Amino acid sequence: MNILMIASECVPYVKVGGLADVVGTLPKYLKKQGHDVRIIIPKYKTIDGVKYNLETLPYRLRVKVGKEEESFRLKTCMLDGDIPVYFIENMRYFNRLGIYGDEAGIGYGDNRERYIFFSKAAIESVKALMFRPDIVHCHDWHTGIIPAYLKTTHADDGFFWRTSSIYTIHNIAFQGSFDAETTVPMAGFLWEDYKSDKLEFYNTFNFMKAGLAYADIISTVSPTYANEIQTPAAGNGMEVVLQTRKDDVYGILNGIDYSYWNPQTDKNLAANYSKNDFSGKILCKKDLQSRCGFNLSENTFVVGCVSRFDNQKGFDLIMDVIRKTQHLDIQFAVLGSGDRYIRDAMLYLKSIYPSKVNVFNDYNEALAHQIYAGSDAFLMPSLFEPCGLSQIIALAYGAVPIVNKTGGLADTIKDFTSSSSSGNGFVFNLYTGENLFDKINTAYNIFRNKNLWSKVVKNAFASNFSWDNSVTEYENMYNTALNRRIAYTIYK
Ligand code: ADP
Repeated sequence: MNILMIASECVPYVKVGGLADVVGTLPKYLKKQGHDVRIIIPKYKTIDGVKYNLETLPYRLRVKVGKEEESFRLKTCMLDGDIPVYFIENMRYFNRLGIYGDEAGIGYGDNRERYIFFSKAAIESVKALMFRPDIVHCHDWHTGIIPAYLKTTHADDGFFWRTSSIYTIHNIAFQGSFDAETTVPMAGFLWEDYKSDKLEFYNTFNFMKAGLAYADIISTVSPTYANEIQTPAAGNGMEVVLQTRKDDVYGILNGIDYSYWNPQTDKNLAANYSKNDFSGKILCKKDLQSRCGFNLSENTFVVGCVSRFDNQKGFDLIMDVIRKTQHLDIQFAVLGSGDRYIRDAMLYLKSIYPSKVNVFNDYNEALAHQIYAGSDAFLMPSLFEPCGLSQIIALAYGAVPIVNKTGGLADTIKDFTSSSSSGNGFVFNLYTGENLFDKINTAYNIFRNKNLWSKVVKNAFASNFSWDNSVTEYENMYNTALNRRIAYTIYK
């Protein structure tokens, strides 16, 4: 199959969250299965052309954003030696320091134009490259209008006659909703397609709705989240749209790249270790304690957290439990960036409890690895969580996750208790500070019992969420989409 991934992020070039990990990792596994996979992302200013050996292709292409013509160039390099990645380069939209917004965490005012431009440019690029995709796989709101283009403006374009589209929701909270009066003409759609079963969404133009209405298949990143988003509690208004397409909604769990997230070979760590020999983990714990300015004590319970500063991630509960657990022998090592109110509140906690709380306000890959490796437990009490990669990474590093039972957290972490010792983490059931506090207390008491703690750590290490498991599900989904498209073309 010819598979084209179009997204706004991809590791190792640009990463804001888990979306980047998926877009940069799933293609490697599809390639191993024999597919021709290619990726298109924007050429953000922060992507280092020299480091990645980007080559400029001999095209100068143009697309229209509203009435304006915008030109762009294509740069390229190989991911993992054999997966072509194409970067859309345009100074006006992508030559800035931030990805989605400025340093204060405020989204760019022209994000709508930026991703209309990017979506149109991706379609033109694939034609210029003469790469006829069987599957166009679009991710999150930034690329939601691409399935709509394929079925409207490009419905009669022979280049795409055998192309099916997949739209994957990585987070339903970010939908790209804009005023319709200016967006419909800016994106180049016809007003006749601005209807409630197509582009219209409560009198707005909503990028995600476009993807959900037009894609041949919709997917999301865990089975539980696929069910949750079809309910008013988690659907963010999209539940009715999803219910009408319920037979086309797939939930496929993300994996992680175990060759990258590997404490045995990780070069960021003070010492390497494996599930058979943890001695290196004790050195990593000391290293983390010293980076945090904490007492170097093996018996202290070190709880790590690597996260976006966002209400989704449960920081109201985290702040609450940091205060309530001050009488216990616990240290909290937190790395995060994003919302400035959360940042300030977390930095305040660090200032009043300096010997027990450290907060690094940063996006720092190396430090993230050091926290996963140096922590006994990993805190992720998300209010909602489409899949979550951090808890899976934590398992790989033997940091036992403490999570809320929601979305992908519910699919990956099973509760450990002293009576039923099969769980790989600690799971609380209802999103309240009390429930998280109780769970941390349970984890803390089990940590003090060396025998029980070694069992839960062993279970964490034994968990396996490799892409090898999920790639077959993706292939099956792609085949279903393809068959559907062929049937549609013949019928038409
Ligand atoms: P989300 O996509 O909602 O941010 P995920 O758990 O799916 O959450 O993925 C988060 C990814 O981003 C993980 O790989 C995690 O290690 C990384 N990450 C999050 N915040 C930071 C940070 N401040 N510094 C470094 N890496 C981070």
